[in-house]
Amino acid sequence: MRRLPVPIDNPGNVFIDCIDLVRNTNLKARLTEIRNLVIEAADEFEEKVTTGQLHTVIRETLINGNVTSTELQDVYERMVRKGTLGRKIYDKLIIASPSGICPLCSHREVTQIDHYLPKAEYPRLSVVPINLVPSCSDCNKSKLTKFPQAPEEETLHPYFDNIENDVWLTATVTQSNPASFQFQVTPPDHWDPLLSDRVRFHFNSLSLNKLYSTQAAVELVQINFRLIKIYAVSGSPGVRQYLLEGAESRSHANLNSWQTAMYKAMTADNWFCDGGFRFLPI
Ligand SMILES: [Zn+2]
Repeated sequence: MRRLPVPIDNPGNVFIDCIDLVRNTNLKARLTEIRNLVIEAADEFEEKVTTGQLHTVIRETLINGNVTSTELQDVYERMVRKGTLGRKIYDKLIIASPSGICPLCSHREVTQIDHYLPKAEYPRLSVVPINLVPSCSDCNKSKLTKFPQAPEEETLHPYFDNIENDVWLTATVTQSNPASFQFQVTPPDHWDPLLSDRVRFHFNSLSLNKLYSTQAAVELVQINFRLIKIYAVSGSPGVRQYLLEGAESRSHANLNSWQTAMYKAMTADNWFCDGGFRFLPI
């Protein structure tokens, strides 16, 4: 999970921008009237996201007695529509992620916006910027309309959680043919139990072990020839030194990428360095 800067756009102004082109005067009047309720929802979100209380936000189907959840979800569709004022905010949120990489999985490409709290359940948050996170399609689909029912079910939020400076992602080598890799969350000692539970929940909800294991299998194919050549000349010490340098370089870029965890795991595994990396004929 990668941290992103918190969007500073005023939620009330964003809401008004998103309903700018509503032609139905009755609908526009009803929507304009709930501007302050949208701001209140944004304030409540901001307060509760930092205190692990988002699961206490009330789900709604009707706002102010006359605006339906569907009408508010449609406001988001207006935000996505090209050429609108809302789209400018949408595009700004999308490009906020460095290199266009999804901050939730740290691997795939950002293609859409994920509602941290789903708009179907929390319609007032449909276009509140701090509820809108750039995401890849797979992470967005994994979350869908799920909502937290307890503090430990609050997935990591790139605008408010920062775990980039601690090592928490680790991998282990499985002695198979070919060697394979399992990834897991290994919380540092100073984390409180709730943060550890949330990171594990995030990791499992988005099936990140599966994603990273698959990528690691591809990486092993890519470096296999190189490892065979080094082993022929320098044996396991040479292989370990090569992998150690790879781990250091990747760790410098990102302490918790699957690549960093994979290279550390390979470096630490005697069986792997002593020829376990080879693809044996079946
Ligand atoms: Zn993703």
